Amino acid sequence: MTEERGNVLQQLKVSIDQEGFALESHPKLGPAEAAVQGVMLAGTVQYPKSVKESALQALAAAAKASVIISKNEIEREPFIALVNADVCTKCGRCIPVCPYGAILGEVRKNIEFVSAACQGCGTCVAECTVEGALTQEGFTDKQVIAQVDGALGENASEKVLIYACNWCSYAGADLAGVMKIQYPSNTRVVRTMCSGRVSQKLVMYAFSKGAGSVLVTGCHPGDCHYINANLQTEKRVERWKKQLEAKGVDPDRLQLWWVSAAEPKRFADKATEMSELISKLPPEELQSTTTKVKVRGA
Ligand code: SF4
Ligand code: SF4
Repeated sequence: MTEERGNVLQQLKVSIDQEGFALESHPKLGPAEAAVQGVMLAGTVQYPKSVKESALQALAAAAKASVIISKNEIEREPFIALVNADVCTKCGRCIPVCPYGAILGEVRKNIEFVSAACQGCGTCVAECTVEGALTQEGFTDKQVIAQVDGALGENASEKVLIYACNWCSYAGADLAGVMKIQYPSNTRVVRTMCSGRVSQKLVMYAFSKGAGSVLVTGCHPGDCHYINANLQTEKRVERWKKQLEAKGVDPDRLQLWWVSAAEPKRFADKATEMSELISKLPPEELQSTTTKVKVRGA
């Protein structure tokens, strides 16, 4: 990648792959758009391609752009972060984790969420520890927890709960189903937009309900739809494993796994491994989880 191209992509907050090429929003549904709304892709900025392919993509990009500029108002995805100013303590924890620089302000003085810049990864929501201060439209704690409750149902200790990011891991799980790749029937998948939305509360809630194991999955490092939000997940999972261990819960019951949309077998193999892990755990380890892990306010 040339330095100039890298700088432009960086300034536009466009996610790039491990080779430095721009990532499209979705290979099928948004091949000429970047994940950042309003940024179109055409030509070799995405990957080496022929003139004919580049020209066709440029036409698609121009058509997409004309849809935007022909309207007086811009429509956008609704999954943005929403702050409750009455509850926010202005601690500033959320500021450095936003991959798009959408949170501005000064610690203890003022915190401003620039909703037009928010791309809806939910990483800031997972970072905020103040109950009710920050949430994500469509993926509030209440909404995700309702899914977890439904997924674990009865006999939670027999279940593998998988948090899957919308763009890579969930698509990988979906493809596993389409390709009829077998994985254990005790696997339950809960989707979030990004692995960065998975908070300590969501993980601990699953264990407090007795989940046998919890797998957090996301895009491979360097392929994150939200630039590098998944790297926050990596740091957090390490921290939560230590917290589980301190509570007397086997930390291997929580794992992080990268799965791309093109890796259905990798998804199925890991789900199988997590299921086998449950079957090898002593019954007392599984039975004691709900008394060892508690979540306040859930
Ligand atoms: S982390 Fe939460 S409480 Fe702290 S500034 Fe951000 S929104 Fe407010
Ligand atoms: S971290 Fe993600 S959800 Fe939060 S403000 Fe930034 S882009 Fe929006």
